[in-house]
Amino acid sequence: MAGMDRLVVYYDEVFYKHKPWFFHPESPERLRRAVDSLKKSGLWSVAQVLPAPVARDKGLALRVHDAGYVEAIERASRSGRVMFDSDTYVMEYTYDAALAVLASVRDAVETATRERGLIAVVLGRPPGHHAGRKGAAMGAPTLGFCVFNGSALASVLLADKGHSVLAVDFDLHHGNGTQEILYSERRVYHVDIHQDPSTIYPGTGWPWQTGEGPGRGTKVNVILPPGAGDDVYKDAVDKSIEVLKGLGLSSVDYIVFSAGFDAYTSDGLGFLRATSASYYYVGKRFLEAFNPRSVIVVFEGGYSVGLERGLPAFLAALLGGDDPVGDRETTSSAYIWSQYRENLGVLRKELGV
Ligand SMILES: [Zn+2]
Repeated sequence: MAGMDRLVVYYDEVFYKHKPWFFHPESPERLRRAVDSLKKSGLWSVAQVLPAPVARDKGLALRVHDAGYVEAIERASRSGRVMFDSDTYVMEYTYDAALAVLASVRDAVETATRERGLIAVVLGRPPGHHAGRKGAAMGAPTLGFCVFNGSALASVLLADKGHSVLAVDFDLHHGNGTQEILYSERRVYHVDIHQDPSTIYPGTGWPWQTGEGPGRGTKVNVILPPGAGDDVYKDAVDKSIEVLKGLGLSSVDYIVFSAGFDAYTSDGLGFLRATSASYYYVGKRFLEAFNPRSVIVVFEGGYSVGLERGLPAFLAALLGGDDPVGDRETTSSAYIWSQYRENLGVLRKELGV
């Protein structure tokens, strides 16, 4: 398979400085595990590793968030340790780290638009896909560990340059912040594959949520029942692509991946059973199907084994290599298949494809 030619990873000390003062799954340890896994699989040595740009422009946050929210994060960060909501902590370095994610995203976009065949990975934290315009999005109870939304920013910056964009969110949880920001945005298609929202945070991402106004019919939510394994996951990837093609999307200039690895079996926060096979398949199939010039990858969730086994499989697929992990694939019960197909039926009906 023909993959991309070059891997760039934005990675910086500042991404470790946002850290909890108590036990919390969203901790700097996640980055250490991610980097260790890239080193073990040989991907780190083929990557060009770049620091986050020093200029961290608040204007980037204002491109996707309201001023009131950006200022509330800035204030909370200045004041020290604060539980911004029941899930999400903010501390001294949160604002700087979150702006560094956005600055890296902008640099990734600039580089990707100059170069063909580039994979630009923003390996930063805090994550962002649950952060909407005013904070918690689409009625979600909390920000779900997220602060500023890098995926949404990458998508709108690319669209502003006149490029066609597909945002693909394969984190376990629905990317409700990204979806809210892009909901009436016709220029960006957004497909989100996640665990059934009736069973997990943030409780959104239903098949009938397809966008509004000019964005109507550009948002695709594919939901997976708890317990779904690689067989269902891979089918969901195929069906997502089929649906997007049915909506008239034949190829795109850029794909922006919201890359979370928490759907990996026993990663810790959810009940999906994906293995390296699913992550490899996501990368490979979306690349083949839409033939982008370059791709942007924004790091989202993933808390343990998903970082060790899902992340390298995904990036290896984008580079056109073999799956370096090679997990044994998981399978799903007939009951899970039937629930999954029922949801897919609703999606197709809503979108008319
Ligand atoms: Zn997640």
